[in-house]
Amino acid sequence: MTNIRNFAIIAHIDHGKSTLADRLLEITGLVKAGGHEDQMLDRNPISRERGITIKLAPVRMRYTSKIQDLRSEILDSEFILNLIDTPGHVDFSYEVDRTLACVEGVILLVDATQGIQAQTIANAYKALEKNLVIIPVINKIDLPNADVNKTKQQLIDFLGIPEKDIFEISAKTGENVEKLLKAVFEKIPAPLAGPVARFFPSGFPRQNVGVHADGSPELATPANFRSLIFDSYYDSHRGVIAFVRVFEGSLKKSQKVQLHSNGLHFEIQEVGMFNPELQATETLDSGQIGYVVTNLKDIHEVRVGDTIVDEKGRSQVVSGYKKINPMVYASIFTTDTADYLNLKKALEKLYLNDSSLEFNSIYSQALGAGLRVGFLGLLHADVIRERLEREFDLSLVLTPPQVEYKVENNQFHEPYVKIFIITPDQYVGNVMQLCEKYRARFITMDNKNQTSLIYEMPLSEMVSDFFDNLKSVSSGYASLDWEFLRYEPVKADKMEILLNGDPVEEFSEVVVAERAQEKGIELVTKLKEVIHKQQYEVKIQARYKGKIIASERIAPFRKDVLIKNSKVVGAGDFGRKRKLLEKQKEGKKKMKMIGKVEIPKEAFLKLFKKN
Ligand code: GDP
Ligand code: MG
Repeated sequence: MTNIRNFAIIAHIDHGKSTLADRLLEITGLVKAGGHEDQMLDRNPISRERGITIKLAPVRMRYTSKIQDLRSEILDSEFILNLIDTPGHVDFSYEVDRTLACVEGVILLVDATQGIQAQTIANAYKALEKNLVIIPVINKIDLPNADVNKTKQQLIDFLGIPEKDIFEISAKTGENVEKLLKAVFEKIPAPLAGPVARFFPSGFPRQNVGVHADGSPELATPANFRSLIFDSYYDSHRGVIAFVRVFEGSLKKSQKVQLHSNGLHFEIQEVGMFNPELQATETLDSGQIGYVVTNLKDIHEVRVGDTIVDEKGRSQVVSGYKKINPMVYASIFTTDTADYLNLKKALEKLYLNDSSLEFNSIYSQALGAGLRVGFLGLLHADVIRERLEREFDLSLVLTPPQVEYKVENNQFHEPYVKIFIITPDQYVGNVMQLCEKYRARFITMDNKNQTSLIYEMPLSEMVSDFFDNLKSVSSGYASLDWEFLRYEPVKADKMEILLNGDPVEEFSEVVVAERAQEKGIELVTKLKEVIHKQQYEVKIQARYKGKIIASERIAPFRKDVLIKNSKVVGAGDFGRKRKLLEKQKEGKKKMKMIGKVEIPKEAFLKLFKKN
């Protein structure tokens, strides 16, 4: 175990994590340079194309190096380096959280052309909280616009990192990457076994546990049995495969174990390591990172953050487990209603492999059967939509993602998030002004050649167009990180959209009082644009707390029955004329009645697309 190093790479999105992982895999001989696609730990094709890591990916590397042992002898020593590449996007921050619970140290990567950004800081704090060893690294030094000195100063100012500890590399050209790899096993401690790990999570075993008379390190004996699940996926032949870090005890085939959170029992079918593809081994011992074939069928029962404990459930658990809940909800329909079952099947397939996805059936008069789906955030929603359209060839109508309000004692409660922004100083004014507009409360700010700002903001505001506007008021420089805070009471109610007096469910939503007027006007105006003129008048209204707060009308085509029929209607034939007018009125009435369900589907498409 003394030769094992477990570490992760953390960074803001795009700072080069997956590219650095490629180089490390090459140096350790796991893959050949040039013999693989770039960012090879990004297995998902959408993740590759968008250049973002959606799923974290673990890999086990071997590296031989000369080291000085405790008796000062120089030996060749083989190290096992378990690397977990983490997703950089904030929607998946819980995965980063759990990853950090599995390792003893991190490489903190900062793009020299960007400097530190919101997730650099957010992730670095997470690592600091867990007492992990941090190896600060400035990346992309090969680029002409790299500002290494400024980036260095930011690391010193914001995180208190000593200048001499900072590495400068190019993950692209490989410059200084091998040096960095050496630092990984020199600076990051070996994993600890047993209860000692809890008291000295980042300490060195030799110092904390003591040294035997012969000079060999005294390691704590495993007194218990626990492994943390940090990811999982579903394999149609073998069931759920859980990715684990063993903290105490040893896992092997045929062992009977239990999941702590739900008491589910299972017999281990196989254990192994990441090569990066799965490679079976006899056992997975304390300190190691690997996988467990569980034979369980439902990924939603094998949750990230849960602990595998012994059969009797006596073991201690790894703390920090929480069930992650969806943050935003959208309704999904197929443009061709006949495709509904295909949509459902497709989503069920994605559900098999996405422990954070939730959905249930809904029905809309205008759009037919559909599904209401819960997502971790806007990016998660976008990725799922894209997969549904691309991998399953579906054409979809998606309502804009909305947050969920809770009602307690007739009082609405809305979800709040804490947001963390980093911006160059010259945009601070703009950014603060923008935050005010989104009902955000200022909490604190800090200025050290860049400014960091913390606000509390309703989630509904953040998932509107906040991020786009943040980018535009800061010429693209400000970056954002956020986390769920709590539910807070708010004055809100359901806003209904009426077409000729009848509410249309598809357009109705809960809106906070402060936003009701503008939202009502916005929707009513948009609807006026997308609904074509009809033979009858269409009245579009927004109703809030029993009052009409916005209203538009679409005038009917004027088909003059009298002119059209002037040849048959004699000037004096008033009786017939009146009859015709009445008939026309009757006709309009009928059209109106069916009118409300006759909004063309394109209207919904156009309406939802603009959001
Ligand atoms: P991640 O989101 O942190 O995993 O970042 P990626 O590894 O996907 O890298 C983002 C982009 O930066 C890709 O286009 C990489 O090719 C590029 N990149 C990463 N490291 C370097 C580097 O050292 N130099 C240069 N010039 N480009 C780099
Ligand atoms: Mg990546």
